[in-house]
Amino acid sequence: MNKSQPAPAQGTVGNRRILLVEDEQTIAGVVRDYLVQAGFQVDLAADGFTALRLAAERHPDLILLDRMLPGLDGVEVCRRLRRTMSVPVIMLTALGTEDDRILGLEVGADDYITKPFSPRELVLRVRSVLRRSVQEFSPEPAVEVAGFELNPAARTVTHHGTPLALTIREFDLLAFLLRRPHQVFSREELIKAVWGWDFGDLSTVTVHVRRLREKIEADPTRPALLKTVWGVGYRLDTPDGADGANS
Ligand code: CA
Repeated sequence: MNKSQPAPAQGTVGNRRILLVEDEQTIAGVVRDYLVQAGFQVDLAADGFTALRLAAERHPDLILLDRMLPGLDGVEVCRRLRRTMSVPVIMLTALGTEDDRILGLEVGADDYITKPFSPRELVLRVRSVLRRSVQEFSPEPAVEVAGFELNPAARTVTHHGTPLALTIREFDLLAFLLRRPHQVFSREELIKAVWGWDFGDLSTVTVHVRRLREKIEADPTRPALLKTVWGVGYRLDTPDGADGANS
């Protein structure tokens, strides 16, 4: 036992289940061993249809999803998962163009990691995503602003009373901005504050902003809430002045 780590409590790594979807046996074996060694329970799927079945049956806490799979590829698997599940998804993707890399994010993945990766790096990324999906130790207070009601303990958010189906990172991004209305944040600041990365692909932020707009804006092409500040970044406005903080 590593004494510097807190003891596994309910909902922490001790009983966390990961679905690893990877058709290359060598990679699957190495990654699975690292995850098991790190204390996770691991289910393996070698193709897309098995992945969807195991996701429904085993209710994993996180899915590691290879992009290139026989049958249904990872992008299609992610798209189908997102119809019913908000489970965190990290895509495993080969180095390619930026479009290739962010395609997974477009269909609802929370993060991606490019091959070749070190298994250790992967475990760190998994822990980072899971930490953000379970904030059991210090739930922050609820927020009501601009028609949104945010409940961090339950990780739910409603907009004018309608529940929003958000992925982990969409929730984190919206929560961050709802706590700081009218402030402008650069993509660098957001990737550090919301994703916890010191560096990273800034298009990750762009894609999440786009996805969030599709869920919260009346007209996502002309956002009234999540505004782009050209050349600077993004800002959450409260057009109806619902928070009384309009200047
Ligand atoms: Ca593959």
